[in-house]
Amino acid sequence: MTTEDRGRRFVRAEPNCIFCGIVAGEISSTTIAQNERVIAFMDINPVTPGHALAVPRSHATDLFDITTDDLAACVRLAQQIAGRAKDRLGADAVNLLNCSGEAAKQTVLHFHIHVIPRFKDQPSKDAIGLPWDSVPSNPDEIERIGKLLS
Ligand code: 5GP
Ligand code: ZN
Repeated sequence: MTTEDRGRRFVRAEPNCIFCGIVAGEISSTTIAQNERVIAFMDINPVTPGHALAVPRSHATDLFDITTDDLAACVRLAQQIAGRAKDRLGADAVNLLNCSGEAAKQTVLHFHIHVIPRFKDQPSKDAIGLPWDSVPSNPDEIERIGKLLS
């Protein structure tokens, strides 16, 4: 881990992190938007046309590690890219997705928000298996777990 002073902010960088490499310009990517705090680039394996990622410049592993300021900046950028997907790609809708942790299927350990344009009735462009099958539960169990989260 290195820490670079960019103005008044410290930017973390993890040596073997792909997204830190993209932020540093050492690994190529199709960058579509950026500011001093965050960067958005195209996913290398898009699940739909326009699939992009919004990531903080400063390394953070996941939702539990990222600062609230960097998180807010990522969400703002994701919203902006989502708007462009509707306006410029003709997307009907957008999914935002973050995977935090191995059990949530996170594969790159640098926080990112997936911006996934969705195309209605166009199976050649959009074959994502969402929504998931809902699982009926017992209201008492929902109440019990809700109390744990309150
Ligand atoms: P996760 O599974 O961690 O939520 O998502 C990681 C995402 O990063 C995947 O959608 C994957 O396609 C993308 N990805 C992995 N390596 C690279 C890369 O080198 N460049 C770009 N642009 N995307 C990558
Ligand atoms: Zn990183």
